[in-house]
Amino acid sequence: MAKKEAAIDALLSENRVFEPSRDFRSRALWNDPSIYERAAKDPEAFWAEQAASVSWLRKWDRVVEWNPPWVKWFLGGKLNAAYNCLDRHVEDGGGDKVAYYWEGEPGEERVLTYRDVYLEVCRLANGLKSLGVKKGDRVAIYLGMVPELPIAMLACARLGAPHSVVFGGFAASALRDRINDAEAKVLITADGGYRRGQVVPLKQNAEEAIRECPSIRHVVTVRRTGGDHPFTAGRDLWYQDLIAEQPAECPPEPMDAEDLLYILYTSGTTGKPKGIVHTTGGYMVGVATTHRFIFDIHDDDVYWCAADIGWVTGHSYIVYGPLANHATGILYEGAPDWPDKDRLWSIVEKRKATILYTAPTAIRAFMRWGPEYPDKHDLSSLRLLGTVGEPINPEAWVWYWKYIGTERCPIVDTWWQTETGMILITPLPGITALKPGSATRPFPGIEADIYDEHGHTVGPGSGGYLVLKRPWPAMFRTIYKDPERYVQTYFSKYSPDVYLAGDGAKRDDDGYFWLLGRIDDVMNVAGHRISTYEVESALVDNPRVAEAAVVAKSDPEVGQAIVAFVTLKAGQVGDQTVATELREHVAKVIGKIARPHAIIFTDDLPKTRSGKIMRRLLRDVAEGRQLGDVTTLANAEIVEQIRDMASVRTGED
Ligand code: ATP
Ligand code: MG
Repeated sequence: MAKKEAAIDALLSENRVFEPSRDFRSRALWNDPSIYERAAKDPEAFWAEQAASVSWLRKWDRVVEWNPPWVKWFLGGKLNAAYNCLDRHVEDGGGDKVAYYWEGEPGEERVLTYRDVYLEVCRLANGLKSLGVKKGDRVAIYLGMVPELPIAMLACARLGAPHSVVFGGFAASALRDRINDAEAKVLITADGGYRRGQVVPLKQNAEEAIRECPSIRHVVTVRRTGGDHPFTAGRDLWYQDLIAEQPAECPPEPMDAEDLLYILYTSGTTGKPKGIVHTTGGYMVGVATTHRFIFDIHDDDVYWCAADIGWVTGHSYIVYGPLANHATGILYEGAPDWPDKDRLWSIVEKRKATILYTAPTAIRAFMRWGPEYPDKHDLSSLRLLGTVGEPINPEAWVWYWKYIGTERCPIVDTWWQTETGMILITPLPGITALKPGSATRPFPGIEADIYDEHGHTVGPGSGGYLVLKRPWPAMFRTIYKDPERYVQTYFSKYSPDVYLAGDGAKRDDDGYFWLLGRIDDVMNVAGHRISTYEVESALVDNPRVAEAAVVAKSDPEVGQAIVAFVTLKAGQVGDQTVATELREHVAKVIGKIARPHAIIFTDDLPKTRSGKIMRRLLRDVAEGRQLGDVTTLANAEIVEQIRDMASVRTGED
């Protein structure tokens, strides 16, 4: 067996609990655990108190109206999200503080203060107004990670025009479907974006998409990469020309707390993406509060959420939460391994980032590349780390702790969804003792539980359905134009006041939550319910393995047989011996029942464009079925490759 790093092994083996250091605790914004009881006793009062983090044009009359499954928060309140993110900080003398340090993939830098962002948002808002955009009109945004992306979102918010951001890595058809679903009037895009040294042809994709988008009247294009582009007179404008002549004053539209702020589509991991609707007041309170206290934001922090703004993580924790909190952030345009695999660490060092928030898929890639890349840089500015998007395997957690946090930084493993709008299950870094792989506890004011099939709470150690039993301010209000799907998908399994998250979870004896992946991904092997995530974690625990995805295939004998798709670390060769070793390793870690029936070695795994493993496609492959919805698949070629390999099984029982 390949040698596992002794240090990592030691950290994992003793079931160690990671307590916040005395220093961290004493400086943390929240360090008194009584916050949990206080919030649980009177959640409405708790959220009413948190609502003071937002500036209201008119104060709300009522905290919440829960008419299950429909909810309204801060009824009667008026506010503007852009005002909260920008104007009030400039008015308070904070205009010179850096809002974003931006770095382009080819290496350019821009430093934008709150005043810079404010002025450009006003100009763009006036520009959009001149194109006829007004309150309630939808605007589609299809950009890479450039400063114009948050600026465009805030310009829309200023006018009360809901935005629908489409991730810049999507192809024309995905863009077309999202524009049509929202019936957007204007599209804001760029001529191109940089990714791994190549130009992503955004405008070209947009041209292809809008051929079939009758609602689009204007296309505003940011000049980023240069080159010639077809231009349709009357429809097309350059962003730079549109804002050039506009006045830098634009009164923010007073919005009702329940007015639509944006529409955003889910990742499409489990099926066709859903158009999630977020409104203004509760959302702003929810994201500002969670961002401030989970990331423990102090005035001197340099906070880096390395997600793409095209996902909810970017909406809530790159744009609305951090700007509402007057935080300084980092935006990076390109790939983490361009020009080399230390790009992120060079940015951390250069900007002296203090907080880094990224995804397990990225952490597993860093592990695969090896610690020599972070080791080349001074990461001593970091004081807090975060993760989101998938369950994080303990192995990856400990690697992150050791090599990125250099054994000093708490890690907040944050569970939430596009639907929830804000983080719901998470450590509080100055309070919570951490266990690698556990998202720990619900945020104060949040009531989460784990139910069995019949709606009874399951005891410690048993897996079940994660549910939320009380509304929270940033929750979605519906699925755009499909309220029926809202009710059906999330509120029909138990009763209309119980939100079904769609994820499996279990609690341990300390009441900590452990996320087990999607309900759809739970396998039934000879009558035992086994989560794909647990088998994957056991595989990744083997030092040869970089990443693994596990699915069940119907089997006449045992009901379902486990098939594992495994990516090995650089230099490892997947052969019969290794397959046997891995099968035995799983048997040792979990038990014989979980030993994969077949192991298929592959160069990569099918992932959504937000980096999540799409097990449903692997299930289709394992079952020899036609593939389901592939519009959100990032690496189409790999599915074909896996399909070919699946016919030449390695390591079959
Ligand atoms: P779709 O709903 O279209 O299938 P998706 O669920 O992947 O896509 P998102 O809203 O981006 O779309 O992701 C939310 C999901 O991500 C959660 O339901 C959960 O499965 C997973 N997730 C997010 N954070 C965590 C975490 N910290 N631990 C475990 N799982 C997480
Ligand atoms: Mg989902």
